[in-house]
Order: sequence, then C-alpha cells, then structure tokens
Amino acid sequence: MHILITGGAGFIGSNLALYHLKKGDKVHILDNLSTGRLSNLEECEKYNNFYFNEVDVLIDEELDKRVNWADRIYHLAAVVGVFRVLEKPISVLSTNIAGCERVLRAVLRSDWKAKVVIASTSEVYGNRKSNQLLSEDMELYISPGINSRWNYSISKLADEAYGLSYVREHDLDITLIRFFNVIGPNQTGKYGMVVPRFVQQAINNEELTVFGDGTQIRAFMDVRDTVIYLDDIGSNPATKGEVINVGSNYEITINNVAKHVKSLANSNSEIKYISYDDAYGEEFEEIYFRKPDLRKLKKFSSHQIKWSFDDTLRDLIRRAKEK
Ligand code: UDP
Repeated sequence: MHILITGGAGFIGSNLALYHLKKGDKVHILDNLSTGRLSNLEECEKYNNFYFNEVDVLIDEELDKRVNWADRIYHLAAVVGVFRVLEKPISVLSTNIAGCERVLRAVLRSDWKAKVVIASTSEVYGNRKSNQLLSEDMELYISPGINSRWNYSISKLADEAYGLSYVREHDLDITLIRFFNVIGPNQTGKYGMVVPRFVQQAINNEELTVFGDGTQIRAFMDVRDTVIYLDDIGSNPATKGEVINVGSNYEITINNVAKHVKSLANSNSEIKYISYDDAYGEEFEEIYFRKPDLRKLKKFSSHQIKWSFDDTLRDLIRRAKEK
C-alpha cells in the first residue's frame, strides 16, 4: 500500500507513518516543517520504504505526481495549536482551506483515485454549555462575534464541506475525521497542548500552569491507538462520505491531569492557576466539556484502546527524562 501523508512530520502524522512502515507499507511524507519537526521522523528514516519532502502542499509543484502514486492520502497539513491559531488567524483560514482544496483537486485529476482521509477537529462542535456527548449528527454553531479564536474550527468546517462536496459531485472516496484530544510521543507543548506542557514542567520542577480553574473536561487518547483507528477507517470502503469522531471516552478534568502528571513524575512542582485572559488574551473562549460520542467509530472499527491515560503519561515522562 502506498501512503501519502501531508503534514506528516507533525505529531499524529509521524506516528501514523511509523505505524504504516511497520506494517510494510510505503510512506511518503510532505511537510513544510512549520510546526512539524525532522526529529519526529528519526524512527521512520530507518525504513527503506520511507520518503520525505520538505515542501508546502500549497505550492508543491509535484503534488500531482505524488497524489497519483498514493493508494491512500491522509491530509493532516494544517496550521494547528491554540497559540498559533490566535497568533496567525489569517493563515489558519487560508492555509487550511486552500491546502485541502489543492489536495482534492489533485486527486480529482489523478488516474488512480486514492482514498482520502481528511483531518477535521472536535473544535467544530464549538462551545456548548452542557455536558452532552458530541455526536457527528449534531447541529454545529459558531459563537457570536467576530472572534478569530474560532478560525481553526471555521477552516476545518470548510474542509469538511469541501470533502463532502467532492464525494457528492465527483464520487471521490473521502472520509472526514473529527479528532478529539490526542496525546503521545512527538507532541510538543510549544503551541499550547496541555499534556506535553505539564510533563515538561513537572520534570523541570516548574509550576504546572492550569488555565482557568482546571474544572474543564477533556477525553484523551494515545496516538498509538489513534493511528489504528485511522487505518481501520482508511481501509473500510463504507466510510466513504462519512464524518467520524476519533477519540476516547476516558474523561478527566485538567486539575486531575496536573495531579496525575505530578504524581507519576514524582515531581515537587506546585500547581499555578492562570486566568484564560492571561493565558490566551482576551479573545479567548474556553470549551468546558469535550467528549465524543463514539458509536459511529465503533461501527467502522473493532479496535479496543490499548493505552490507558496513566500508561501514556508514564511513557511520556520516561521519554522526556531521557532527552
Ligand atoms: N491548558 C492548561 N494549561 C496549559 C495548556 C492548556 O490548563 O498549559 C488547558 C486548556 O485551557 C484546555 C485544556 O488544557 O482547557 C486542553 O488544552 P489543549 O490545548 O491541550 O487542547 P484543547 O483546548 O484543544 O482541548
């Protein structure tokens, strides 16, 4: 199987590439290294069937050739991470929408029509003020006011609409994935992600920075489970034209994430509370509860999660200490 991963030097892409290489697939990664890192690909480089190009999908002159080579494309290239989204609200829209469209156009032009799995996000569910499980058939809404905090969500909704329209108009085989909170090796805390930030802070015996009062809830899944779901979805023809949540039902407050990290790292770090305004600036609107309805995912994959939250934390702490 020939696998093309755009944005593959990022956290999810690099783990996905390694998983496919271990299966014996050929993997080609495209990444402009804006947030992705070459060091994430060290393990992949050990395989003969691994190819990498530092290139932006928006301007890659050889995109058609690469797309034509692929049996399956995971389109993950995007501007991601809360800090980056707030800092670059225009490029979030332009890069994420134009990049996706360019990949889809190339697939349409190709002789060999690859299956395309496009990364969307649970951010599209917006800020619902109840503890309802988030399911794919819910109405979506964007909070009122021109608020660039939602640009990421808007860009991904546009990608979903593009994907579904290419299925409808051109009968391409495309699936949209709404990612929930994924954690694991290669994730950086530089752009806001909570777990790698807490792990690094705990190891350095620095304060763990909890934003808000820490009662907000997330459901975390290890990327090594995520990639199996992605492969199951990619290999199942029934996922064509579907939008699917990918996440876990292990819910935890951010306060408890801080406590678990502290205790598993044997750290003396204090927990410091920082207001959202100080953490993100005034434009920020927090999501208090985010947990997926997984019924649809279960329809397409029988994979059972292997990594518990604490096992992932132990592994991340060990890796961070070795660095
Ligand atoms: N968060 C935190 N401290 C940090 C980074 C993030 O308390 O140093 C909080 C953040 O406000 C959010 C949760 O942790 O409530 C998860 O944040 P992340 O950016 O990892 O994911 P998302 O907000 O997209 O769910």
